[in-house]
Amino acid sequence: MDGRTDDVRRWIDASSRVVALTGAGISTESGIPDFRGPQGLWTKDPKAERLSNIHYYMSDPDVRKLSWRSRLDHPAWTAKPNGGHLALVELERRGKLHALVTQNIDGLHQLAGTSPAKVIEVHGTMREVMCMACWWRGPMQQVLERVRAGEEDPPCEWCGGILKSATISFGQSLVPSVIASAMRAAEQADLLIAVGTSLQVYPVAGAVPLASAAGARVVIVNAEPTPFDDMVDAVLRQPIGEILPALCGVGARY
Ligand SMILES: [Zn+2]
Repeated sequence: MDGRTDDVRRWIDASSRVVALTGAGISTESGIPDFRGPQGLWTKDPKAERLSNIHYYMSDPDVRKLSWRSRLDHPAWTAKPNGGHLALVELERRGKLHALVTQNIDGLHQLAGTSPAKVIEVHGTMREVMCMACWWRGPMQQVLERVRAGEEDPPCEWCGGILKSATISFGQSLVPSVIASAMRAAEQADLLIAVGTSLQVYPVAGAVPLASAAGARVVIVNAEPTPFDDMVDAVLRQPIGEILPALCGVGARY
């Protein structure tokens, strides 16, 4: 452990309200591709982005059929949480995790064991579906069973409306109450740790200056530079699955 890492570990030890803000980088180590990053699928193939654009999805049945087929094969269904996810579970076990704000839709934090009540999913979850007409919500796997059984574009069983994963697609608004609770958590933090996010998507990236202005220490763990690197207390570039367990005291004795 180098000096900086050791500092951050001590800051975490001294904190009682840590807020973690996680992005795609924590899930790539579990084999889930980063769609928007520099090597992302959408960055390399803008046509693929159409599948995640709400306007094409609502107006084109072929886009929906393709989307359902790609949901069937999504790597998230077989992905396992990695050391980064488990480190945040340890932080909660130690009574330090105030909230976990995530831009990820894969549900791996809950699968790892973080309490669902601690997790604020600002871009929704792919583990549920919602009806775009009556707002019914239900488990994704139930609807995927219908796709496997031959329904190419399964409609809502209550109202016949269009079903979609309960995620925020391109062109769709964020949920104001969810963003508000993420920002409130950032203001209440005594330490904010941003993990695997390039901090370029607003309003979520705004949690960093907000926490800092409210007096929290801010730490960034990300392989690539972010716009906030110069204004935070520490920036760590090591792989998340290695550095986060060391920071959060996994394997240490208390
Ligand atoms: Zn419906």
